[in-house]
Amino acid sequence: MYYNDKTTIFLDGKWLKANDASTDLYSQTLHYGAGVFEGIRSYETEDGAMVFKAKEHYERLQYSAEKMHINLPYSVEELVALTYELLEKNDLQNSYIRPLVYLGQNMSLQPTEEVHVLLCAWKWDRYLGDEQLKLMTSSFQRPNPKSCFVDAKVTGHYTNSILATTEAKKEGFDEALLLDMNGFVAEGPGANFFYEKGDKLYTAPLGNILAGITRQTIFELANELGIDVVEKYFKPEDVYEADGAFFTGTAAEVAGIKSLDGKKFNQKWEDTFGALLSAAYLNRVQKKEYKNFELV
Ligand code: PMP
Repeated sequence: MYYNDKTTIFLDGKWLKANDASTDLYSQTLHYGAGVFEGIRSYETEDGAMVFKAKEHYERLQYSAEKMHINLPYSVEELVALTYELLEKNDLQNSYIRPLVYLGQNMSLQPTEEVHVLLCAWKWDRYLGDEQLKLMTSSFQRPNPKSCFVDAKVTGHYTNSILATTEAKKEGFDEALLLDMNGFVAEGPGANFFYEKGDKLYTAPLGNILAGITRQTIFELANELGIDVVEKYFKPEDVYEADGAFFTGTAAEVAGIKSLDGKKFNQKWEDTFGALLSAAYLNRVQKKEYKNFELV
């Protein structure tokens, strides 16, 4: 699904077929989850494939690596250039790009000098689909920021996400909504969360969440469209009263939400700021001008 006989990857300075690549079973990342990664999308535009906010993603990768004491051997500029090469080699326009920085042999709990950098890409539909989602408040909290760097994209952090999504699906929901250690709504397992009430949008402040690049793009688009966004702490009970809600993430883009814990939101998705921002987001990533922007 992610690769076939023709797929080319970048691994440690070389271009090779995904089928011919191998890894060390004694990797510290495999045993303890100490690796860092990114999730990036490229889009087909009139000027060819564009990697959306490539610099911001690789700056976050650098930040994540620093926090985990990993010495990333490439600059942001080099990684951006390599990403465009990766797309070309795989003849990809609309794609999902996965940079992964993983470590060599080390069974101790100390930093590892041997660092590997993988860049791969594949075609991937919107991660959460196109239907409005039924959410449940997870029994799992997001990691306490005093237990790890919750704003770094570390492979091991995703065990928390896997538990939350699996629980939600088992209970018959589409996705989970996780609280922080104080009981306030934090984010989804792989996306940031916004809800709307009256003429404003609300989202959790930074501190207990991943600083999503899509979240930031929504701030920019909302500002351009004259929609107020308020960062504040709030509880699931506040969301039960919402007019609408959505997730934001590179893989999910802007994903509409129908209900939380069975409580349906007041407005039809089509009538919400979320739907407007979803359309504006797709225009932005595909470099379509606002003058072509039409709400459908
Ligand atoms: N929160 C979590 C936990 C995530 O995994 C992601 C996806 N990277 C996001 C939020 C959204 O981040 P971004 O918009 O940068 O993809």
